Amino acid sequence: MNQFRFSRRPDIGDKVRVSFEFFPPKTDEMEARLWDTVTRLEPLKPRFVSVTYGAGGSTRERTARTVKRILNETTLTPAAHMTCVDTARHQVDAVIQEFADFGVTRFVALRGDPAAGVGTAYRPHPDGYANGAELVGALKSVGDFDISVSAYPEKHPESPDFATDIDMLKRKVDNGATRAITQFFFDNDLYERYVERARRAGIYIPIVPGILPVHNFTQVANFSSRCGALVPAWLAERFEGLENDPQTHALVASAVAAEQVHDLVERGVGDFHFYTMNRADLVFAVCHMIGIRSHEAEAAGSAAA
Ligand code: FAD
Repeated sequence: MNQFRFSRRPDIGDKVRVSFEFFPPKTDEMEARLWDTVTRLEPLKPRFVSVTYGAGGSTRERTARTVKRILNETTLTPAAHMTCVDTARHQVDAVIQEFADFGVTRFVALRGDPAAGVGTAYRPHPDGYANGAELVGALKSVGDFDISVSAYPEKHPESPDFATDIDMLKRKVDNGATRAITQFFFDNDLYERYVERARRAGIYIPIVPGILPVHNFTQVANFSSRCGALVPAWLAERFEGLENDPQTHALVASAVAAEQVHDLVERGVGDFHFYTMNRADLVFAVCHMIGIRSHEAEAAGSAAA
């Protein structure tokens, strides 16, 4: 990655488009924080914002409430995540219909992790949709939705090899997926290699990198080891010794994420999906650095000029 490219690309914001991911809040306090975040990020005009869904339908009501509020109270376009693990088809179908009835046109279709947690054995529900590809098919049979699906630059931990992983992505595309959003990653070469593999397999939908600004390096390192994402040594070194220094940690995190995004732009990527963790600060800073500004900021800038 070359930091010096930063200053030579003031026009970068014209080429880059973003989407943001939130999770449905559990408490009133978390709800207030989410809405502060939504309010802060809304002026950046993301293509869509997505709201996650608990495996087994555990957050159905909270996801629906959050999506409805975004639809009713903001200018944003929500995408509802859906999972099918541990759920009968008719229940999944009912949720799809419920979301469609209140105006959802975008979905992120996922299988979901087994109830016992990431890495434990997955068994499809006997009357359920077996995987993400079958869920895409179910969504398409209800409406002509915009459907995002998952992709794994380091392959899904359950995939025996990349060929199996890419084959699953191909089945999702064949069933009607509009785009893939990747699991987070920190090594852009892995993403680029994955996209090349997908293109060679005849997959031409956008494969949008999922960017995770590192709010807490220790937590991210733990989670990465469970979901099969590599934490490079250089990344660990950047955050070394900052466990009790949140301000410097945040400054480093925004620089790291901006560097990653700039490098991907240099490689021709134009769309980015940010895992916000319901926090605006790092994502807002990174968007600012890549030239994505709110209208208020632009107006203030031209008034000062
Ligand atoms: P699938 O794509 O159906 O399968 C995952 C992989 O497993 C495939 O690539 C395939 O290679 C392998 N596989 C599947 N079946 C077989 C088989 N029969 N034989 C061999 N290999 C097989 N989880 C949530 O609970 N809620 C969310 O809102 C959520 N949002 C997410 C958003 C994004 C962008 C991403 C990347 C992940 C998200 N997840 C979410 C996590 C996801 O549910 C897990 O990663 C889950 O383990 C797999 O779901 P999937 O849709 O990727 O599965």
